[in-house]
Amino acid sequence: MIGLDAIQEARKRIIGHIISTPLVWSPALSHICGVAVGLKLEHYQTTGSFKLRGATNAILKLTEAERKRGVVAASTGNHGRALSHAARAIGLRATICMSRLVPENKISEVRRLGADVRIVGSSQDDAQKEAERLVDENGLVMLPPFDHPAIVAGQGTIGLEIVEAMPDVATVLVPLSGGGLAAGVAASVKAMRPNAKVIGLTMERGAAMKASLDAGGPVLVEEFPSLADSLGGGIGPDNRVTFPMCRALLDDVVLLSESEIAAGIRYAYEREREVLEGAGAVGIAALIAHKIMGLRGPVAVVLSGRNIDMDVHRRVVNGMSNPLGQKT
Ligand SMILES: *Cc1c(COP(=O)(O)O)cnc(C)c1O
Repeated sequence: MIGLDAIQEARKRIIGHIISTPLVWSPALSHICGVAVGLKLEHYQTTGSFKLRGATNAILKLTEAERKRGVVAASTGNHGRALSHAARAIGLRATICMSRLVPENKISEVRRLGADVRIVGSSQDDAQKEAERLVDENGLVMLPPFDHPAIVAGQGTIGLEIVEAMPDVATVLVPLSGGGLAAGVAASVKAMRPNAKVIGLTMERGAAMKASLDAGGPVLVEEFPSLADSLGGGIGPDNRVTFPMCRALLDDVVLLSESEIAAGIRYAYEREREVLEGAGAVGIAALIAHKIMGLRGPVAVVLSGRNIDMDVHRRVVNGMSNPLGQKT
């Protein structure tokens, strides 16, 4: 388990490298919910998501010898961006492995952030295998997106900032996928405010952590296309850090349908003037759908990211029924 000490050390380590994001009150959401609601604007983080915190902490903790070898990950999304940026910022090499099926715009974005991109195979599994091969044969250091103590400690720094901005926080709403964000935030918030509730939010279909918590151990789930694409993927069959922490620390996990997530994105844009990706909008989505029973305030809602395809965003905001444009 990652404790408050590790999270406070992480904060000292990353403070000059990340943005301490604002927490702003939402009068509109407070009115809807009947309790004070504040939004933690983590989508303003450099690279557009909170993942820069964990990636930066993990990189800064490497030994001199490990830094020379460089880091590697298989990620098409926000972790890949964060790792690329964090590595370049302190002058070491990052290699990001992706499959041939990853769209060109995602590949060029990671290249633009300075990483070496390796395109291999035709699935995320193939990309992961290539990353493991680079570890075994070339000595690169693997930095996974969530199941790593330094990553969890980095994400946990968000909890420190929430308690400082909202000392009487009663409820924290956190997007949940592999659980690095939720585990870190729950660890820091509950260490300082033991009575606060921390609730994970994720999509209805393909929610790996929820299924694993219900089963009592990591399970595989089928993946489906979702507006909250950053919440897809498994928790890893050998999960060591985030599963036990989420089991011990999360008070509840709430599931959201695609139309509820769409409503969250739309609400954020129209009422709060914020552009959010689906994963970043699940907290707002849960509040406006009144899906949190017995909600106590003040509430802090973590808005975790904004890296949404702008065509998809336009379709969501315009209320189109099939915003991902997939065949039905
Ligand atoms: C990665 C990610 C999450 C989920 O974080 P985990 O640590 O995997 O639970 C939520 N929102 C966004 C925008 C992300 O990129």
